[in-house]
Amino acid sequence: MSGKRILITGAAGFLGSHLCDRFVKEGNDVIGMDNLITGDLRNIEHLFKLKNFEFYNHDVSKFIHVPGHLDYILHFASPASPIDYLKIPIQTLKVGALGTHNCLGLAKEKKARILVASTSEVYGDPLVHPQTEEYWGNVNPVGPRGVYDEAKRFMESITMAYHTYHGVETRIVRIFNTYGPRMRLNDGRALPAFIGQALRGEDLTVFGDGSQTRSFCYVDDLVEGIYRLLLSDYAKPVNIGNPNEISLKDFAEEVLKLTGSKVKIIYKPLPVDDPKQRKPDISKAKQLLNWEPKIDRAAGLKKTYDYFKSLPEAEWSKQPK
Ligand code: NAD
Repeated sequence: MSGKRILITGAAGFLGSHLCDRFVKEGNDVIGMDNLITGDLRNIEHLFKLKNFEFYNHDVSKFIHVPGHLDYILHFASPASPIDYLKIPIQTLKVGALGTHNCLGLAKEKKARILVASTSEVYGDPLVHPQTEEYWGNVNPVGPRGVYDEAKRFMESITMAYHTYHGVETRIVRIFNTYGPRMRLNDGRALPAFIGQALRGEDLTVFGDGSQTRSFCYVDDLVEGIYRLLLSDYAKPVNIGNPNEISLKDFAEEVLKLTGSKVKIIYKPLPVDDPKQRKPDISKAKQLLNWEPKIDRAAGLKKTYDYFKSLPEAEWSKQPK
């Protein structure tokens, strides 16, 4: 795909910045929008010199005005890690609800196709494993994670309503844990937390007994899946993630091996409502998009570790807030 005009919200964040790279590289005109609440301009500063990239510093929970036509909107603005959305719960609810409403309104006005970034968190602490798109989830609306999970569930609902009621072309991606360069070391998620601790020579903290599982998808695989979903004609939610499941304890050991660090693994109590298992069923993505992840964990982890290691040493010492 080339020659399209695309708005990407959350452009200065981890996933948004990789999406900007991909669409700019293919010769599209990309407008990045972000209010920098959790993002970092350094993730996209290399794009500023390009003619086909523009940046708007704007809060998408407020009315969005973009001059000219748009072919596609990718709505990725939202705090995404528990450490962020627990700190800014109202903004999280607002960007999932009002921000999504504004983006859908813009899509309707511009007759653009919109893809919204939902999450495996809509499954909550799942009672079905692995999770298929048909599973309705097990979410505690008033638990600490509810602000994120319910905002995303509302996002899916209003997106579907714009599709059925207004005929807007919509796509919904349910993203499972993704990792790669430009994550933040201090975002509180397991992977950067482990790598940060290893880099600083601290013991690796595992919450609970470490038997809870996660499946980690490398960012390039995710971007490819999103790209294919955007160009597909499928309006219902699609899981994109890596079904290769690992326990957090085994994962901590992999990080130790990769970094050659001699520190220990220590255990702390599990946070409230922490999901015990997460693994996508990606049959739909395989069948509809001919997509499956290609990058194995060893290769992805190495690229991510090299990225973190390349950061100024002062940044390694930023502890989770
Ligand atoms: P991130 O925090 O790195 O990026 C989010 C970006 O959105 C940031 O740059 C932030 O400043 C911006 N933003 C937040 N609120 C905004 C607002 N009101 N107006 C404008 N910009 C705003 O997070 P990420 O990991 O890149 O996640 C991006 C999207 O993908 C989110 O919607 C998230 O829910 C979804 N997602 C991510 C993952 C993952 O593993 N990273 C998993 C599931 C879903």
